[in-house]
Amino acid sequence: MNILKKSFKKSIWVFHLSTAACNNCDIEVLELLTPRYDVERFGIKLVGSPRHADALLVCGSVNAHAKPRLIEVYRQTPKPCLVIAFGSCGCSSGIFRGSYSVVGPVDKVLKEVDPEVKIVYVPGCPPKPEAMIEGIIMGLGAI
Ligand code: SF4
Repeated sequence: MNILKKSFKKSIWVFHLSTAACNNCDIEVLELLTPRYDVERFGIKLVGSPRHADALLVCGSVNAHAKPRLIEVYRQTPKPCLVIAFGSCGCSSGIFRGSYSVVGPVDKVLKEVDPEVKIVYVPGCPPKPEAMIEGIIMGLGAI
């Protein structure tokens, strides 16, 4: 995929949501905005509302408290949208899998409300920022 061609055609706006993460993944997401990675040069921009987003970046195992918030945020995001399950917790509930409060992972929860949801998985604990950039680029072809 020609990333420069894609990025100039249409920027991708991302809403970041944490659903019972330990916050280490969230820190890696913020790293993307630093001068070292500077994802805005590719047109990838973090936005403050899911209503403005092309993609949801979800960190965390999804506990019972966060599940209705995740579903609501997904419903508020214009379709078609991409969901990026970020980190081992986002992909599979990670080390929290099997906990009494965990109802995730992300794909399990969202497929209950939209079986056609488009999900990119970015594993790691936490994933490196380069992995997230690659995940978004891979997902660009799906939306
Ligand atoms: S994947 Fe690892 S770093 Fe990310 S939220 Fe889970 S435990 Fe924390």
